[in-house]
Amino acid sequence: MKKFYVTTPIYYLNSEPHIGSAYTTIVSDIVARYKRMRNYDVFFLTGTDEHGQKVMNSAKEKGISPQDFVDQLALKFKTLWKEIGLTNDYFVRTTDKNHEETVKYIVEKLIEKGDVYKGTYKGWYCIPDETFWNDGDVKVENEKHICPECHRELKWVEEENYFFKLSKYNEKLIDLYYEKPDFVEPEFRKNEMFQILKAGLNDLSITRTTFDWGVSVTSDPKHVVYVWVDALMNYISALGYPENLEKFEKYWPADVHFIGKEINRFHSIIWPAILMALDIPLPKKIYAHGWLTVNGEKISKSKGNAINPKILMDAYGKDAVRYYLLKDISFGRDGDFSEENLIIKYNSDLANDLSNLVHRTLSMLNKYFEGVIQKPEITEEVDSTLLNILSCNTKKYLDLMDEYSFTQAMETLWEIVRMSNKYIDLTEPWILGKDENKKTRLATVLYNLLDSIRIISILINPVMPETSLKILEKIKYDNTHINENNLNTSLLHYDVKVDIGEPVFVRIDTENWKRVIIMNSEESNIKNKEDNKKEEIKKETENVISLIEFPDFTKIDLRVAKIYEAEEVKKSKKLIKLQLDLGDLGKRQIVAGIKEYYTVEELLNKKIIIVANLKPAKLMGIESNGMLLAAKDGTSLTLLSVDKDIKEGSKIS
Ligand SMILES: [Zn+2]
Repeated sequence: MKKFYVTTPIYYLNSEPHIGSAYTTIVSDIVARYKRMRNYDVFFLTGTDEHGQKVMNSAKEKGISPQDFVDQLALKFKTLWKEIGLTNDYFVRTTDKNHEETVKYIVEKLIEKGDVYKGTYKGWYCIPDETFWNDGDVKVENEKHICPECHRELKWVEEENYFFKLSKYNEKLIDLYYEKPDFVEPEFRKNEMFQILKAGLNDLSITRTTFDWGVSVTSDPKHVVYVWVDALMNYISALGYPENLEKFEKYWPADVHFIGKEINRFHSIIWPAILMALDIPLPKKIYAHGWLTVNGEKISKSKGNAINPKILMDAYGKDAVRYYLLKDISFGRDGDFSEENLIIKYNSDLANDLSNLVHRTLSMLNKYFEGVIQKPEITEEVDSTLLNILSCNTKKYLDLMDEYSFTQAMETLWEIVRMSNKYIDLTEPWILGKDENKKTRLATVLYNLLDSIRIISILINPVMPETSLKILEKIKYDNTHINENNLNTSLLHYDVKVDIGEPVFVRIDTENWKRVIIMNSEESNIKNKEDNKKEEIKKETENVISLIEFPDFTKIDLRVAKIYEAEEVKKSKKLIKLQLDLGDLGKRQIVAGIKEYYTVEELLNKKIIIVANLKPAKLMGIESNGMLLAAKDGTSLTLLSVDKDIKEGSKIS
C-alpha cells in the first residue's frame, strides 16, 4: 500500500487555538482524508510545542508550574481538534517522554559526529519569537534594537552555547534547491529561502543556559536545547525514531510539512541541514502557506477576531467552514477570512448549487418513480456532455488536489455540480414526466443525475465529510465505497429506494442572521450608526415646511424608473444598490439607504420616483446616479411609486 505522511506545525503554547491555527490543521486534515480516499496508508500528525522561555514566563505570570500550564493548553488543542472532527493519527507534545529522549539522542549523536560543538554566543535574541538574530538583520530604532520579524525589542545575550555547524551544509542545501526545485512551495517562498542560502549561513546556537524549561543536554545538563531545534524533531520522534524504526521506516520521509510562512526558515533550511547531518532522508516537500486575517484585520484578541473555530462551526456547520476555507482562501498566499463571504458562498455554492441539485433530483425521483432508482436505458446526445464533464473534471480535480491547488479544485468540482443543474434544465424532466411514452427516457435522466451526485459526494468527502455521508445515505450508497475505485460513471445501483429527507443546506436569510464574529471596531460602528439615526429622527421631527417659488421646483427633474436589479451592499447595514430602467433615458445605478425596510425581492420590478438630475455621488465607493424618493416617519419608510402603470422614464410635473 502506498503511504502518505502529512504534518502540521506543532503549535506553540502561548495562546489558545483560534481560526489561524485551525486553518493549517483543517487543510492538513483535508489532505489526509483525500489521500485516504485515494487508498493511501496515511499518517497525519499534529501537536504542540511546549518548551522555551516564553512558555516558562507565561506560566510564571499565571502562578502555575510550566508543566501544569502546558498540560492545560495542550488539552485545549487536543479537545478542539476532536470536537471539530479532525482525523490526526497522533498528537505529539514536546514534553512527551519519548520526544525528549529523541531530542537527547540526536544532540549527543551530533556532538559525537562533530556537527555540534561548544562555543560562545554573542548576539541579539528575541524572547517572544525565541529567535537569535545576526547583527546585520537587527533594526535600530530610537537606540533600541528591534526584531526584524516581530518588531519588538531584542535582548543582548552572551553565553556559552552549543552550536550546530549549519554553515557546513550551506552548499549542500543550495544543491538541494537546484536538484529539487519543488522542495519548498510556493515558488516565491522558495526564492526567499534561496536568497538566504546564497547570502551564506552562520552556525546556529542550539542550546541555552539561562533557563531550564526545555530538554537538557545529556552530556552537559546545564544546557537546554533551543526550542526550535527541539520542536523540529517532533516530525520523527512521533514516528518512534530512533526506538521504533519499523514505524519510522514505514512513513518517513514526510510527504509534506504544512507550515506558516513565518517558520519557513526553520523548516526549509535548518531542518534539512539537521537531517543531512543525521543521514536521514529529507522530507519531500515543505509547503509554506500565508497568513490569515479575519474580517480584514490581523487576528488578535483585542480586536475580537481571534475566534474559536468551533463557534463558527456551530453556527455554519463544520463542512461549510471547511469548504469556505478551501475555496475562498488561495492556499499559499495571505488570505482573509470574511464572515460575509462565508455566508455568500454558503448560499450560492452550498444551498443554491449543491443542495438544490440533490433535492430537486430526489424530489423528481419521488414524484415520477416513487423514489426508486431506475435502470438507465435511452441515452441521448445531451447525456454525453454531462458524462464527459464528469470524467474530465474528476481527473482534473484529483490532479489539482494532488498539487494543493485547492481553490481551483473546488472550482472544478463545482463545474460538475453546475453542469448537473444545467442538465436538468436541458432535459426538462417535468415535461418528460407528462408523457407516458417518455418514462424510460426520464428514468435515464434521473439515473444520470443521481450517478453524478454520487461521484460529487465521493469527491467532496475529504472536504465535507458530513455532507458527503448525508447525501450518500439518501441515495443508499454504501459508504465503504467512498474511494477512488468508484469514480467511474454508471456505478450506481438501481432498483434502490432513496430517502429524500431534508435539504443538506438551506439558504441563510442574510437580513435576520446574527453574525458570529463581532469585531470590536464594528461595535463602535453600530453605536455610531445608532447615534446617527437618533440625529436623523430628530431632524425629521423638526418638520418645517419652507416655501419656494415655482421655478425652483422646475429645476428638479423627477422621473419614473423601474427597478430591474437590486443587490445588497455587502459591507453596509443600510445600503442597497439598484439598477434602474428609465426607458428612453437609458439605464442607471443608484444606491439607497433602504436595506432595513425593503428586501431585494420586494424591490424587483417596482416602479419608483427618482430625482434624475442630481449630481452623481459615491456611497461607500459605489457610484449613485440620482436619488429615489421615499416618505419616512420615525419608524418606517415607504418608497414613492405610481398608482397606475406608466412608461419608464415618464416625467413628473
Ligand atoms: Zn521577534
